[in-house]
Amino acid sequence: MELTKKEAQSIASGLKLPAKAFIDGRFCDASDGAVFETINPATVEVIARVAHCSATDVDRAVIAARRSFDDGGWSRAAPEDRKSILLRLSALIRENTAELAVMESLDSGKTITDCLHEIGNEVADFFQWYAELADKSFGKVAPTGEDAMALVVKEPAGVVGLVLPWNFPLLMAAWKLAPALAAGCSCIVKPAEQTPLTALRLAELAREAGVPDGVLNILPGLGETTGQAIGRHADIDIVSFTGSTEVGGYFLRYAGESNLKSIGLEMGGKSPFIVLDDAVINDDLIEHAATAAFWNGGQNCSANMRQIVDARIAESYLEQITARAKSYVVGDPLDPATDIGAMVTREHMAQVSGYIDRGNAEGGRMLSGGVRKGDGYFIEPTVFGNLTPDMTIVREEIFGPVLGVLPVSGMEEALKIAKDTEYGLHATVFTQDIDRAIHMARRLPCGTVAINGFSEGDIKTPFGGYKRSGSLSRDNGTEAMDQYLQTKTIWISTGGSK
Ligand code: NDP
Repeated sequence: MELTKKEAQSIASGLKLPAKAFIDGRFCDASDGAVFETINPATVEVIARVAHCSATDVDRAVIAARRSFDDGGWSRAAPEDRKSILLRLSALIRENTAELAVMESLDSGKTITDCLHEIGNEVADFFQWYAELADKSFGKVAPTGEDAMALVVKEPAGVVGLVLPWNFPLLMAAWKLAPALAAGCSCIVKPAEQTPLTALRLAELAREAGVPDGVLNILPGLGETTGQAIGRHADIDIVSFTGSTEVGGYFLRYAGESNLKSIGLEMGGKSPFIVLDDAVINDDLIEHAATAAFWNGGQNCSANMRQIVDARIAESYLEQITARAKSYVVGDPLDPATDIGAMVTREHMAQVSGYIDRGNAEGGRMLSGGVRKGDGYFIEPTVFGNLTPDMTIVREEIFGPVLGVLPVSGMEEALKIAKDTEYGLHATVFTQDIDRAIHMARRLPCGTVAINGFSEGDIKTPFGGYKRSGSLSRDNGTEAMDQYLQTKTIWISTGGSK
């Protein structure tokens, strides 16, 4: 789906922005009436004052979720019933894509083109795919003697807390909600404070699709209050979190200090984009390199910001990636001609800009980019050449459009530098030699390795990180459904042949 700038602006001017929390099937204020502001980062205007949920509100939502889980209307429904409601939700998302995409773009500063694609295609597809999976997930019969029959069955795990980031607001909601709902869980969702709006609109669509009261609750609020109350709640069975490594660690602590709930973590990265000496530096490769770094303004956990390039081809590579960076259009997120919208907040822009200063101060060669003057939080795609592995901008996650090229001598040095990070989310390798590609894929300690093209995979493939990028749980694929299921053994003594 596409919208002209005029169409997007016209939808924006008529939008009714949701501002209340959604608990037990109803929109409501926070119990103490608290609100927080959400800002359009492209214009710096306050666009809504949204309910700020307290621990009391979290408690209300958990009580409703537990009641809905225990009454079995969703958790014990025939999987085909859950499937048909989730398919209806997927269809409603497709029907309302334009409105949701404009809302998301206003709230996050993401480009309208990305929002339309993510919501109309991926978000809707996620609900469809997991709806279809709901009635195709089988248990097992374990091998036993004739005196027993042993069934291994999967059951919905209970009440789950889903704590979301701001970089892909509705898509991350879908990554977690679609499998959790398909599995039969009841959900408490906390969208990021910067981007609460589309999750609230999704709740309205879910109610229209037939998701029962209490099964889906959306609690906007700040991390330290709403997020922490979810992390520490004694009647939440699982939390699935996407965000920073620091806050992921808090959730482990909250679990340890409360009910030992299971914690699924998808966190930061500092992923490498490796170009071996036999790779052909052409437009296709450069496009992948630019997308790997600048997609969503670099506000992407799997962004490939450490571009490790064989020294024999590094100068030509630098020239071409710099030219491509300079060709990006940065500006009004509602204009379909825009490639990169606004950074999500003033603080985040200042942080990214601080890293650019640090790169220059530590001797990096800045070839393009920097902060754009004027209103709104805009940063131009920035390319640094001739970086070394010890520099701050090579080691720390920047989460903005700041790409660094590190020249290396040969494959083994490339591998050594690629591995020299505390993160392990993603890597891309370009080479024409299948043996070298497989060697690199096997040696790189990260959750996804893309060969000869930047990709995170798709719905069907698990996504998550090694090391400080994640826990053993995975989003996407059939693995995501496993996050929200318990495994039960039913051992039936049959008395053998008597
Ligand atoms: P956070 O990790 O702070 O936020 C992620 C979610 O956790 C949000 O819903 C947030 O709430 C919540 N949260 C924050 N603090 C707490 C807390 N003390 N207890 C419980 N929940 C909490 O990420 P940020 O949004 O601040 O981004 C910071 C950095 O994190 C980025 O620069 C980037 O490096 C990384 N990041 C990684 C992402 C990924 O995809 N892996 C996504 C987003 C960020 P709220 O925001 O409402 O306060």
